[in-house]
Amino acid sequence: MPNADTILEVKNLKKYFDLGRGAILKAVDNVSFSIKRGETFGLVGESGCGKSTTGRTIINLYNATEGEVLFNGKNVHKLQGRDLKQFNRKMQMIFQDPYASLNPRMTVGDIIGEGIDIHNLMSGRQRQERIYELLETVGLNSEHASRFPHEFSGGQRQRIGIARSLAIEPEFIIADEPISALDVSIQAQVVNLMKRLQDERGLTYLFIAHDLAMVKHISDRIGVMYLGALVEVAEANELYRKPMHPYTEALLSAIPIPDPEIERTRERIILEGDVPSPVNPPSGCRFRTRCPKAMPECANVTPELKEVEPNHFVACLLYNN
Ligand code: SF4
Repeated sequence: MPNADTILEVKNLKKYFDLGRGAILKAVDNVSFSIKRGETFGLVGESGCGKSTTGRTIINLYNATEGEVLFNGKNVHKLQGRDLKQFNRKMQMIFQDPYASLNPRMTVGDIIGEGIDIHNLMSGRQRQERIYELLETVGLNSEHASRFPHEFSGGQRQRIGIARSLAIEPEFIIADEPISALDVSIQAQVVNLMKRLQDERGLTYLFIAHDLAMVKHISDRIGVMYLGALVEVAEANELYRKPMHPYTEALLSAIPIPDPEIERTRERIILEGDVPSPVNPPSGCRFRTRCPKAMPECANVTPELKEVEPNHFVACLLYNN
């Protein structure tokens, strides 16, 4: 049941792309989940699983083919006028490649100030002060305002991207693989910065990543996607402690364990084959062509996402009873 604590509800969302000649790419195929105010929902899966398309449809960069996205109770694809303007302010996106998303010909100060100008939030000295304050908030300083993006490292550029998204005081940030392009040593710094900003500003995050190691330290709950569908959703600790879907088990088995004793005995589940095409997904369970536990009925029955244990949802016929 939706309540005031729910900031985002994704209901039976489908996003198909018509490739011509009758070929339909089912990038997102009947995905439902909700996010509570102030939480971080990690969305994980291999590239091409539809997680980024889900994020882009939520933020209204794409229309939905079917289904709904409700933000603060309103359908984002039907917003108009003032409501649409509010939405464009309240929901922001941070991208994987901060360099590609920062205009190379604009100074960092103008990049951060752009949203302030578009939304007419402030001008002159007040605007300038706000830009300096945002730079400091993300661990940079006021001198950086007059420089250009190419003068910064990858981690610094991601900080600039974060400052830009914060400039218009959003409630909800979609972070699309924000640390995947960064050195491992820098990844933790950006995650820690995002966590601190969340605590200070009550932000809600949808954090998209391609492996479970990246979302571990930031997510309250995690959804695992495979070939356009959610296959498992659970609280983060629960998912790492007790993965139920064979795909989640395989993803988790790929994460190295820091303890060398345990690491030596870690059993890796290697998935055979490639991810099938979302234009022509397998019948029944989409994971069946790579699933080490597949049964004959998996070819005929499409498993639905069901609550198998309290707050732990799985789409797999192994848990159908
Ligand atoms: Fe594997 Fe069958 Fe479960 Fe799909 S439904 S994950 S193929 S066991």
